[in-house]
Amino acid sequence: MNVPALTSSGGCRTAPVLKERGQREVFCGLTGIIWLHRKMQDAFFLVVGSRTCAHLLQSAAGVMIFAEPRFGTAILEEADLAGLADAHTELDREVDRLLSRRPDIRQLFLVGSCPSEVIKLDLHRAAERLTVKHAPHVRVLNYSGSGIETTFTQGEDACLACMVPVLPETQARELLVVGALPDVVEDQMLTLLAAMGIGPVRLLPAHRVDETTAVGPNTVFALTQPFLGDTHAALQNRGARHISAPFPFGEEGTTAWLAAIAAEFGVDKATFAAATDAPRARARKAIAQASEHLSGKSVFFFPDSQLEIPLARFLTRECGMTAIEVGSPYIHDALHGPDLDLLPAGPQISEGQDVEKQLDRVRAARPDLTVCGLGLANPLEAEGLTTKWAIELVFTPVHFYEQAGDLAGLFSRPIRRRSVLKLEAAE
Ligand code: SF4
Repeated sequence: MNVPALTSSGGCRTAPVLKERGQREVFCGLTGIIWLHRKMQDAFFLVVGSRTCAHLLQSAAGVMIFAEPRFGTAILEEADLAGLADAHTELDREVDRLLSRRPDIRQLFLVGSCPSEVIKLDLHRAAERLTVKHAPHVRVLNYSGSGIETTFTQGEDACLACMVPVLPETQARELLVVGALPDVVEDQMLTLLAAMGIGPVRLLPAHRVDETTAVGPNTVFALTQPFLGDTHAALQNRGARHISAPFPFGEEGTTAWLAAIAAEFGVDKATFAAATDAPRARARKAIAQASEHLSGKSVFFFPDSQLEIPLARFLTRECGMTAIEVGSPYIHDALHGPDLDLLPAGPQISEGQDVEKQLDRVRAARPDLTVCGLGLANPLEAEGLTTKWAIELVFTPVHFYEQAGDLAGLFSRPIRRRSVLKLEAAE
């Protein structure tokens, strides 16, 4: 079948990009542990870090009193700087203690952080040493969640990328879907693919290490999240091929994403229509209802989650908004190109951040809605701008047809709230 031809007024793929390399206002990559530990049910995330890292995780994820948590922090004190060999011995002791107490752990991630004493520790070597010690029951891997190197969604990218080299080899022609989705959304996606006769579908991350996720030269993979640049590169290094498509946000994005996979697997037009017509109609209706307050409004994206480009495409094409600036921490043509093709020409596309300059631009533009990180939202609200926290978009189910109305609703709620407040103030 042919991928439906979506048209755009020129698109933004070749538009000039404003590149900024100044001060950034983002959460660090440790944040990803909050959703990854729920998804990977036999994994444990051991942050090697400071008390700040422990506080971030505890306040963001909540402390589970009745359940055994699947993340923790090994706090490296200043004194540990004195001897790195001692730090390695202490880390090994912590891991031994943890694994002997928790036989349910099958994958252990050592997660690096920012403090200089942690940066000096070679966690890759530690992971190799501990894998040898605890194999075959536990696989130990490492990645960095440091705020110096990562934005908050890059924690997931770094985690998935470090798993790719140890995935088993396969020669099977299989679809691998990459990106941690809430279970309910993942089930909807698998149902849609099954209705088109596509399967078996492998998932990265899998729920458990024993599951059959493998990779090889006949693997084709689709990304569900636009922040998986390193994972994309790691999969290509294993010989897998990327199915390039817009991301599955909104009715159009979901249809285009599914259509690209359907084309790859030779699904005929009638089968595609039978699987997608009803949910497409539901999605369109839900978006129309939820976007009533969005139509004709302007939006400005600060670079934060790396979801900005596909979301700007959704808001402009399906909700009637106008984008003033679309900032993204990084722009990868292989990942974001298809969405940039569809984003109507006009907005300033920016990559990276110089927060003071960007604040000047948003104050001058005074958009109806500003999508930004938590740290910027309150000051901007105080200046009379209406904001949406970017982090909410990662914690809320927003992919595929059945969530398309909720996705529009996430953006329309702050605008509605602001107009209600204005009405009350006028009374
Ligand atoms: S990794 Fe760095 S930015 Fe993140 S909580 Fe720890 S010290 Fe702070």
